[in-house]
Amino acid sequence: MFDIGVNLTSTQFASDRQKVVKRARDAGVTGMLITGTNALESQQAQRLAEAQPDFCWSTAGVHPHHASEWSVEIASTLRRLAEKPEVVAIGECGLDFNRNLSAHEQQEYAFDAQLALAAELNMPVFLHCREAHERFAAVLGPWLPKLPGAVIHCFTGTREELEACLAMGLSVGITGWVCDERRGLELRELLPLIPADRLLLETDAPYLLPRDMRPRPTSRRNEPCFLPHIVNQVATWRGENAEELAVRIDQNARTLFRLV
Ligand SMILES: [Zn+2]
Repeated sequence: MFDIGVNLTSTQFASDRQKVVKRARDAGVTGMLITGTNALESQQAQRLAEAQPDFCWSTAGVHPHHASEWSVEIASTLRRLAEKPEVVAIGECGLDFNRNLSAHEQQEYAFDAQLALAAELNMPVFLHCREAHERFAAVLGPWLPKLPGAVIHCFTGTREELEACLAMGLSVGITGWVCDERRGLELRELLPLIPADRLLLETDAPYLLPRDMRPRPTSRRNEPCFLPHIVNQVATWRGENAEELAVRIDQNARTLFRLV
């Protein structure tokens, strides 16, 4: 089972990154993608991935929260990083009209620029969209025929948005958000709509600790070693066998990010 969303550069992991990776391996996680959210963290993510060959890979990108930082220099940093073998996707990039930490115009500009970079380098993209589906689809749509793959990570949208994403050909990343006994209910019902070959799972650690773990972890910090819990829950809600799902999401990640 492959975790496509681990924020291993987070300061929450500053004191025990190696142990976090080890615990994930011991828990049966077969690989992980370390998320880059700005130029500095994308560099850190690449170095962390380099230190764990054949287990960790990374993305290089600028999260919409950081879109106001976008510059020609950052674009060339990402381009340089993308040449490294462990950097397998551009992102995370996209739009976030929920927190609006960067202006909408800046977000759209940085998103479009990263899609152009991915198209030029022929790399898949790791996408973020929060309360911005319409503009997200409008900016992304023209680039899709030029991209080898795309995943909308941490999908938490509506049924209509999911159907639109699937119609665009996107893969869909589901986090432990779906385990939330209140907020996750709508998403839970949508899980069977996602084709088996386009489903990916992720912890988004250290965020989004699944709320239904029993016993509850003593820390509120999420870790990639909790991915098996998400696999089990999603398998139950899709009416699938958990072991088969674990194999399937590993294959899907390796195919999308071209690790095989
Ligand atoms: Zn995100």
